Amino acid sequence: MTKGTYSFGKKNKKSHMICRRCGKRSYHIKDKVCSSCGFGKTSRIKSVKSNWKSAIGKGNRKK
Ligand SMILES: [Zn+2]
Repeated sequence: MTKGTYSFGKKNKKSHMICRRCGKRSYHIKDKVCSSCGFGKTSRIKSVKSNWKSAIGKGNRKK
């Protein structure tokens, strides 16, 4: 019942902005940490490398 337009109305307070390192909208404004690559928390890229590694291993298959 509350899916769709109603719930979209709540999406105007954004907790994440576009990360300047990985380009995903995973950079948390309050925490100042990117949940995708770990920017702000670590100087190293957190999981991007393992992501493409597993993607290649699986033949980059997605449903
Ligand atoms: Zn990032």
